[in-house]
Amino acid sequence: MSKTLVTGAAGFLGSHMVARLRAEGREVVGIDNLSTGKPDNLRSFPDGGGFVFIGCDVTNPQLLSMRELTDVTEIYHLASPASPKFYQAHPFETIEVNTTGTKLMLELARRNGAKLVYSSTSEAYGDPLVHPQDESYRGNVNTWGPRACYDEAKRLGEVYCYEYFRRYGVRVKVARIFNTYSAGLRNDDGRVISNFVTQAIEGADLTVYGDGSQTRSFCYVDDTIRGLRLLMEKSVADGEIVNIGNPVEHTILHVAHTVIRLSGTSGGIRYLPLPEDDPKVRRPVITKAETLLGWRPEVTLEEGLGRTIRAYRERMGGGTRS
Ligand code: UDP
Repeated sequence: MSKTLVTGAAGFLGSHMVARLRAEGREVVGIDNLSTGKPDNLRSFPDGGGFVFIGCDVTNPQLLSMRELTDVTEIYHLASPASPKFYQAHPFETIEVNTTGTKLMLELARRNGAKLVYSSTSEAYGDPLVHPQDESYRGNVNTWGPRACYDEAKRLGEVYCYEYFRRYGVRVKVARIFNTYSAGLRNDDGRVISNFVTQAIEGADLTVYGDGSQTRSFCYVDDTIRGLRLLMEKSVADGEIVNIGNPVEHTILHVAHTVIRLSGTSGGIRYLPLPEDDPKVRRPVITKAETLLGWRPEVTLEEGLGRTIRAYRERMGGGTRS
């Protein structure tokens, strides 16, 4: 039976993808070096019974000769730190997983005749001067700053995809994934929704960086995973880039007020300095995904935040000082 490989299987997107694929009855192999992923994310999927876990770095060339990977026909290359907090703490690993790791996964795809979906990022657009961003926008990335290890590594990962498509005809598709969230984010993930919801449940002030006027467009993870599945399954977009994100844009201050309202927390807002190179705006144009995949996000921010707050509260022991 053909298998699907998920790299970064114990991470945020990876573990959601494993769950989705197993629910569809697919045989899944997961790879993770557990640098930022958590084994606990895979507790519902013990080895055997349709799931095999390989604890390994995706840059390890021995993967190419592993028996478990010979029947792999679909590869979701989702491994990489994605939170600024983690990729800035692990810059070299971030560069390696997205460059050497992407090349190795493309080589596996070439040998197996497999399809590959690469998780690139809206960070490829940097601090955009064109708004909103469609796939043809070349971006405004600072190549010499704290976000460069992630942005530039992802962009070089895209180049590997392009060349493997052009030279070897590997059916690779590049998803530029915009901000995604759910309760699957670790409490210490450092990204905004994880921070705000954790703080709200603890009754602490929500930490807004800058004046909160910067914007992001948040996609609930179920929508993101559905988009990635369609990108893999549909015979479209080989060798192309497709934005996967929610086109509804909000200021960070609006997100803070929404979390405060929905959680009923007694905490307020604490303003902290804006990190260097923090993009001022971000919103995807998703016409391509709509046209090629028939995909559009369905979960609103209110609904997604409501689900996230409920699940965090359960995980954190129900405690709130509100
Ligand atoms: N942010 C914030 N408070 C936090 C964490 C993040 O105001 O506790 C802001 C951050 O400065 C950025 C936005 O929220 O403008 C999204 O940040 P995140 O780290 O989630 O992802 P990014 O899109 O920057 O990679």
